[in-house]
Amino acid sequence: MKALDELTFDNRFARLGDAFSTHVLPEPLDEPRLVVASKAAMALLDLDPNVAETPVFAELFGGHALWAEAEPRAMVYSGHQFGGYTPQLGDGRGLLLGEVYNQAGEHWDLHLKGAGMTPYSRMGDGRAVLRSSIREFLASEALHALGIPSSRALCVIGSSTPVWREKQERGAMVLRLAPSHIRFGHFEYFYYTQKPEQQAQLAEHVLNLHYPECREQPEPYLAMFREIVERNAEMIAKWQAYGFCHGVMNTDNMSILGITFDFGPFAFLDDFDAHFICNHSDHEGRYSFSNQVPIGQWNLSALAQALTPFISVDALKEALGLYLPLYQAHYLDLMRRRLGLTTAEDDDQNLVERLLQLMQNSGVDYTLFFRRLGDESAALAVSRLRDDFVDLAGFDAWAERYKARVERDGDGSEEQRRARMHAVNPLYILRNYLAQNAIAAAESGDYSEVRRLHEVLSKPFEEQAGMEQYAQRPPDWGKHLEISCSS
Ligand code: AMP
Ligand code: MG
Repeated sequence: MKALDELTFDNRFARLGDAFSTHVLPEPLDEPRLVVASKAAMALLDLDPNVAETPVFAELFGGHALWAEAEPRAMVYSGHQFGGYTPQLGDGRGLLLGEVYNQAGEHWDLHLKGAGMTPYSRMGDGRAVLRSSIREFLASEALHALGIPSSRALCVIGSSTPVWREKQERGAMVLRLAPSHIRFGHFEYFYYTQKPEQQAQLAEHVLNLHYPECREQPEPYLAMFREIVERNAEMIAKWQAYGFCHGVMNTDNMSILGITFDFGPFAFLDDFDAHFICNHSDHEGRYSFSNQVPIGQWNLSALAQALTPFISVDALKEALGLYLPLYQAHYLDLMRRRLGLTTAEDDDQNLVERLLQLMQNSGVDYTLFFRRLGDESAALAVSRLRDDFVDLAGFDAWAERYKARVERDGDGSEEQRRARMHAVNPLYILRNYLAQNAIAAAESGDYSEVRRLHEVLSKPFEEQAGMEQYAQRPPDWGKHLEISCSS
């Protein structure tokens, strides 16, 4: 295990040159202090977990010091925001500090969010507040624990630096880890500014570093685009299966690696609601829960447009055509597993859809329903869950179908069924009200709740003694919380 000063850097993105990013030093936070650190994320860098508690850790990730080999850069990109093209965006408040190698040979981008103004800050102050930094930290690590591809978070550093949003808040930084911070919007930027040389350089960089196996294919760029389509289909299938609403699926927030990226006013569903909109500035519901599926394809089309210099339009269209069938196959596979089924039948899609309609009409808790469905035999479980539904006749009809389906599945012993279902149906999910409780405590200087919640969510499928309060439906005040979009 390594001490903080033993990290090995190789800053490949920085070496692409000044057309891609600008050298900027972090602006330090006043009185930096550790709010929370992820030991699992520290392990990705081979870091000794004990270093998180040392003052130098808070100073480093609070922007006070840098490794000699770090080359802090603000990246330039653009993107489609809510359907309209914004010609220039970029890291307005985050810096890529450098790329670190671990002993296994993996490399991780270190990205410090909230690190001050950059040439891309536009009207912003370059800062991030404690509340949004905690939300990004908790969501990144919780998604990862659920098996949903995501950027990771190493730590949150709090401070006494005042930051103005709707009211005065305190500045914070979150250290994000990802194998790459390249977004769809990077490709769009070089395409729409008509810089073919840099665009080719970027495409080579992504192909060589992140999709090397596509080099073996007759058309490497097309193979890479196909892989990006596949990864997005799979990621979004997982969002839909677990009730995750991203909230700001602009193309500048879409990772070229197909990982969940750039967290804003995201939410996990409490009650199942296909039309749920977690972003209060999304007045038309462009990024509502169920719209995430077609928006995934829309975003891939925007990327495809930017790749037309390298790939024929027909080939791009064909690859885009893979998205929906792949999405549906992944989604149905996940939902079968959530229902405890091990085989496939033609009618399963309808079985799932009917259940979701019933849940929608009765406002049934999405996470707890599936968890309880696996607590005991199918017959006992449905008879206990019945009370949660308003349309009892509708639910009874569904329950009969389900029991018959389970019977045909021949799903093994009750013990096997429970283990299989509990391994895919989380008991603990990052509910908005849980995050809100942890944030309120942290804003008054008590970080114990953030740390406990992070711990609980790092093992979402394992029932943990004494943690019942994290596996409840929200209390009345915690339903439909308005999460501020300012961050
Ligand atoms: P986001 O909605 O967080 O994905 O941000 C969209 C764009 O606005 C990105 O280019 C960000 O870097 C920039 N941005 C967001 N908040 C700030 C801020 N407080 N200061 C400077 N730039 C910001
Ligand atoms: Mg963004």
